[in-house]
Amino acid sequence: MELEVNDMKVLGAIKRGASGLRNIKNVVHLKNEELEKILDVLDQSNMITIRYGSGLLGQKKVMLGVTENGIKQMDEYADGLSKRWREMVNLAIAGERATLDQMIRDEPLLVNMMVFYGVTDTATLSRLNLRFLLEGKHLCYKCKKELGKFSQKFSVSDVRKFNFKLPRGMTTRDDLCNDCFDKLDTSRQRG
Ligand SMILES: [Zn+2]
Repeated sequence: MELEVNDMKVLGAIKRGASGLRNIKNVVHLKNEELEKILDVLDQSNMITIRYGSGLLGQKKVMLGVTENGIKQMDEYADGLSKRWREMVNLAIAGERATLDQMIRDEPLLVNMMVFYGVTDTATLSRLNLRFLLEGKHLCYKCKKELGKFSQKFSVSDVRKFNFKLPRGMTTRDDLCNDCFDKLDTSRQRG
């Protein structure tokens, strides 16, 4: 069966020892209903065990664990991630940025999951200059520099307004940094 990213995250959190709902929510940011839905799916797929104990004040407390089947699923998932990570490193070495960008557009959380499952880590991503693949950062479309809240950004409509040549593949969701925008200018004057 095909599991979603959040299912695999919740499963990973339980395996790491988050046995209650509150602990899981510290690792995976989900709303209560979302988490409950995921736990239902994992339970029905025989991937987790659910026990009920009582808390310090005698309140009912859920205690979750991962089944053998769940561990098997996680291992397979991590294997798949490792294969794709090696593929991505090769693409990076070959300078195939556009292909990498497309992979991330198709699956925005792919590299985040690789980090979550320990297939790679942020230090490695930095060393390979691949930090931009992590979701949740807004980066310059061309040079992949991080665009902070207060840094100047230039959109497709800015590029059009100045009658510059639009970088190939740039969409309305992308932005350019000041430097790259300036370089568009010079390339136009030369051409
Ligand atoms: Zn830039």
